[in-house]
Amino acid sequence: MFNLVTAEIINRLTEILGVSSVSTAHADIDLHAKDQSQHHAVPAEVVVWPTAAQQVADVLKLANENRIPVTPWGVGTGLEGNSIPLHGGILMSFERMTNIIAVHADDFQVTVEPGIGHKDLNAQLARHGLFFPPDPGANATVGGMLANNAAGIRTVKYGASKDNVLRMQVALADGRLINVGSRSVKQSAGYDLLHLFVGSEGTLGVITQATLKLVPVPTFMSAVVAGFPSVNAAVETVVAVRGSGLDPAALEFIDAAHCRMLSTTEGVDLAENPTIFMEFHAAQESTLAAGLEIVEEICTEMGALTFHATTDIAERKRLWHARHHSYEIMVRSHPDKKFFINDVAVPISAYPELIAYVEALKAEHGITAYMIGHAGDGNIHVEFPYADDAGYQKAMEINGLIVLKALELGGTCTGEHGVGIGKAKYLPAEHGEALDVMRSIKQTLDPNGILNPGKIFPQNGH
Ligand SMILES: Cc1cc2nc3c(=O)[nH]c(=O)nc-3n(C[C@H](O)[C@H](O)[C@H](O)COP(=O)(O)OP(=O)(O)OC[C@H]3O[C@@H](n4cnc5c(N)ncnc54)[C@H](O)[C@@H]3O)c2cc1C
Repeated sequence: MFNLVTAEIINRLTEILGVSSVSTAHADIDLHAKDQSQHHAVPAEVVVWPTAAQQVADVLKLANENRIPVTPWGVGTGLEGNSIPLHGGILMSFERMTNIIAVHADDFQVTVEPGIGHKDLNAQLARHGLFFPPDPGANATVGGMLANNAAGIRTVKYGASKDNVLRMQVALADGRLINVGSRSVKQSAGYDLLHLFVGSEGTLGVITQATLKLVPVPTFMSAVVAGFPSVNAAVETVVAVRGSGLDPAALEFIDAAHCRMLSTTEGVDLAENPTIFMEFHAAQESTLAAGLEIVEEICTEMGALTFHATTDIAERKRLWHARHHSYEIMVRSHPDKKFFINDVAVPISAYPELIAYVEALKAEHGITAYMIGHAGDGNIHVEFPYADDAGYQKAMEINGLIVLKALELGGTCTGEHGVGIGKAKYLPAEHGEALDVMRSIKQTLDPNGILNPGKIFPQNGH
């Protein structure tokens, strides 16, 4: 179906990009063969680093004319194999397109190249008193976040990546460069192509520029940690906080095992209980204090064993640093194991039922699995340690049951990690005939199927 990258193609790539932006060196190929998921590495044939949108478009045109696959690469923190070049071909890395093109401070907007990391972006925006809220923990690129519609801990208040983008420039498979969306926060002109490309995982077009929405850095912030006697009490509290009219900026569930790992390795004072982490933002100290009183009342009513609220900046940062590193800490705590991370989301009212189902599955199958989730969004990650193929197969079986339960509860097979390789088989169950419409859109925009092939749509054997 696809052609190999020949010496002639390498010459043409070098003409477009310059000799230092094209590599067939093993070290470069290996570095871009696998993201942070458990999926197997697959080498591309060549890695390219464009530095301008027109170069991206020219490479796509060349690849399309020669039927060569192109897989965009942000920084490879994806957790579903989204950027693994499954069919070889050209791996297009955005590591050299990291410029901030313009800060539109008065409009609370910034226009950037796709390769900038969201943490690097926020470090530079701090001097304007602004920030880009989606926060997937890892220093993912803006392009990778938009392509995966990444979310993270602040989505409960500020939305996912899709809610924080206004306009993008996109290179199409045939080499056209188009603009989608506008810098107006209200947009009603025709089909919403902007949000068609968001979440399309590089399968419909390649993002070469994006104008993002920003919000002012909040003046007052607090962190709250509350521990509960049972998983059910903790997740019921999540629903109660969401129903109270309070507006948490983060509302996270972490299980007792994670609390133990965080307190032993990160020095945060956490009892080994099912726990919720919260953050609140306010323009006035009194508003923050009033909200915290209500949160404490709710937690007490729900039987909290511990409750600690702080506005101390260092303590708040320490807590969230620990939460952000919980995955790495868990991996480090199990040096003999690999990990598979599940990602499903349901409507908030169904969250306790989903979590109870996971607990029952763990007991029924006698398996170890940890839970951590963006609970305020109804999103859970069940993390399965495994040592061998049999352990991996078991984890996949339980993962499949959790996905089907999430769908039964009106949810989705992936809240934020995207479809990539691992979730493709669940799309027929989630989308039915709408998946055929997605195929038609793919066929229209990428008739030769060169853009990130093997992703999103179910393949043989997946
Ligand atoms: C420890 C850890 C914690 C995480 N926590 C979260 C979390 O809380 N929430 C969350 O949502 N995710 C989380 N993730 C997953 C990951 O950070 C996100 O999926 C992120 O969006 C990936 O960005 P990236 O820059 O690494 O992109 P990559 O992984 O390199 O690529 C992701 C996808 O984007 C495509 N792509 C990249 N650049 C472009 C472009 N310019 N144009 C078109 N397509 C492009 C790729 O082809 C691929 O399909 C976590 C990952 C890790 C390792």
